[in-house]
Amino acid sequence: MERAKLLGFGIDTYTFEQAVEAAKKKRGQVVTINPEMIEYGTKNPEFAAILNSAELVIPDGIGVQLGLKLISKEVKRIPGIEFAKYMLSEFKNENIAMIGAKPYVVKKAVENLKEEIPSLNFVYVHDGYFDDDARIIEETVEKRPELVLVALGSPKQEKFIYKLKSKLPNALMIGVGGSFDVWAGEVERAPKLFQKLGLEWLYRTVKEPKRFRRIFPVLPLFVIKVLKEKWS
Ligand code: UDP
Repeated sequence: MERAKLLGFGIDTYTFEQAVEAAKKKRGQVVTINPEMIEYGTKNPEFAAILNSAELVIPDGIGVQLGLKLISKEVKRIPGIEFAKYMLSEFKNENIAMIGAKPYVVKKAVENLKEEIPSLNFVYVHDGYFDDDARIIEETVEKRPELVLVALGSPKQEKFIYKLKSKLPNALMIGVGGSFDVWAGEVERAPKLFQKLGLEWLYRTVKEPKRFRRIFPVLPLFVIKVLKEKWS
C-alpha cells in the first residue's frame, strides 16, 4: 500500500482495517495528521522529521482528505479517537499506558474504559501536565507497556512519543489529542451527522470559539499551498 506525499509529508492511504493491521504488525509511532500539523512541520524541520519518521500516518480529518483529493488521491478519513479505541480493544490482554490530559480527566477516562472493557490492563496512568519528560519516560518504560496512548495535544504528543520510541521500540504509541476528555465524558463528540459529513471541526469550533483562531487561517492556506504544488 502506497504512502502518499502531501507538501512533503508522507500519509498512509489505508482503510481503517488496513491501518489496524499495519499498526499491530509494525508497532512504533502513529500520527493522526491534520493541516495544522503540516503547517507547523513546514516551519519546523525537527517536527517535520518526526512526522516523516512515524511508522504510520493516518488522515484524521477532512482537511487532509481534501488535500489528498486535490492531488487525485482518494482516502477515507480515520478518526484518531476511533482508531485508538479500537486499538484498546485489540490490546485488551496486554499492558497499556495512558499519559495526558488533566489528572481527574485521565482518571475518569480510565474508569470509563475499564467499565466498557473490563479486561483492560492499565499498567501506567499519568496526567499530561509535567515538565520532566525524562522522568515520565523512565516510569513508562519500567512498566513495559505494549500500547501507549498519549494525549498532550500537538506537537507535544508527537515529540514525546518520538523520544519514548527509542526506549520502547516494540510498543505501539498513538498521539490521541483530546480523546481522553471525550472518554472521560468531559467533552462531547459532535453529533453523528457532523461526523459523517466530516464537519466535527465546525461543531467543535462553534462550541469552543477560541479554536477558530487556531484552525481558520490554516485551512485556506493549506489548500492554496497544495494547489500551488500541484500546478508547479
Ligand atoms: N494537554 C496536556 N498537557 C498539556 C497540554 C494539553 O495533557 O501540556 C491535554 C489537554 O488537557 C487535552 C489534550 O491535551 O486533554 C488535547 O488538547 P487539545 O484538544 O488542545 O488537542 P487537539 O486534539 O486539538 O490537538
